Amino acid sequence: MNFSDIQQRDQAAVMHTYARFPVAIQRGKNARCVDFDGKDYIDFSSGIGVNSLGFANEGWAKAVYEQLTTLQHISNLYYTLPCIQAAELIEQKSGMRKVFFANSGAEANEGAIKTARKYSLQKYGPGRSTIVSLQNSFHGRTVTTLSATGQDVFHKDFFPFTEGFRFAVANDLEATAAQLTQDVCAVLVELVQGEGGVLPLERDYVQGLARLCREKDILLIVDEVQTGAGRTGSFLCFQQFGIQPDLVTMAKGIGGGLPLGAVLFGERTADVLQPGDHATTFGGNPAVCAGAKYVLETMDEAFLAQVREKGDYFRQKLLTMPHVKGVAGMGLMLGIELDGVTSREVVEKGIEQGVLTLTAKAKLRLLPPLTITKEEIDQGLERLQRALAQL
Ligand SMILES: *Cc1c(COP(=O)(O)O)cnc(C)c1O
Repeated sequence: MNFSDIQQRDQAAVMHTYARFPVAIQRGKNARCVDFDGKDYIDFSSGIGVNSLGFANEGWAKAVYEQLTTLQHISNLYYTLPCIQAAELIEQKSGMRKVFFANSGAEANEGAIKTARKYSLQKYGPGRSTIVSLQNSFHGRTVTTLSATGQDVFHKDFFPFTEGFRFAVANDLEATAAQLTQDVCAVLVELVQGEGGVLPLERDYVQGLARLCREKDILLIVDEVQTGAGRTGSFLCFQQFGIQPDLVTMAKGIGGGLPLGAVLFGERTADVLQPGDHATTFGGNPAVCAGAKYVLETMDEAFLAQVREKGDYFRQKLLTMPHVKGVAGMGLMLGIELDGVTSREVVEKGIEQGVLTLTAKAKLRLLPPLTITKEEIDQGLERLQRALAQL
């Protein structure tokens, strides 16, 4: 089977909702993968921040396999151990009180939104259900999480969207404060806007926002779907901002490559949801949670310190490359500001040279697996340098 067979079959059988690049990856190991024609690539994308431990991590695969051959699924009608173990580890690492497992980032955000609205309804009655999120944010593709997404391009074709969302300007505390009126139950933010262009929020803004929320009993929801699970050099990104949110959502990297989302509940929100309020058939699935448990156990302090070091190393090297104007981001979530080339052109040229990268609007975005080795980084950067030099 070669690439053109695969492309033809995909186009005939699979719904065209993605503008795919002309590559079909067959297999991989850590940050290196090979396509069906035998060409190898260094992976600076980790399946959009999902393969936090790289391709085919042995410990992770073994944990999943052992669970698959013991009990793959039983439903949330019964207790299962991997779900409990994964939740306990998340709580130990985050200081949050409870965990609800879902299957994706959008679904985790739906859970957080429902929780915020119920918290407010119980305490204050109706008329306080608005959620303020930020302009340029991204929170998912369901009808409600699209409403929460502050980018106009997403707000077409699928009307009517869920009501009760408003947008504030990031890093403008005064303007945000003006939005926090009596009808607001929660604020929803990404601490580093991912799809929006790898834009970190300012520390003063985040702390000011957390203070305002506390004063007004407005819940602070942090969407850590992309920034969580070690990506930014701490288990959760909020830990570098000196705040403790009321709700946190995770997905992408937490499952190590299998679909897992999570809502993390803090002190104020730990008792809001009651039996019957929220559910999902697959959420907390034993096999997926056994993999997540392995991911979580791997992410100790030394592991996170390495993420920060590798991020600094990437930054230094990237800043010496042609067309690179600046590098934004935290840890191994990097956004490269380009000069004289589009991000799409760099991704395409990178593929030719054997390196997989991502875009985030005009920026080139790198989300390498957190386990990437020095050798893999150097080889991938060499290829990226060659791609940039050709443009
Ligand atoms: C990817 C992403 C989502 C959506 O996650 P899905 O798993 O695709 O539903 C939500 N929020 C942020 C910040 C993301 O990066």
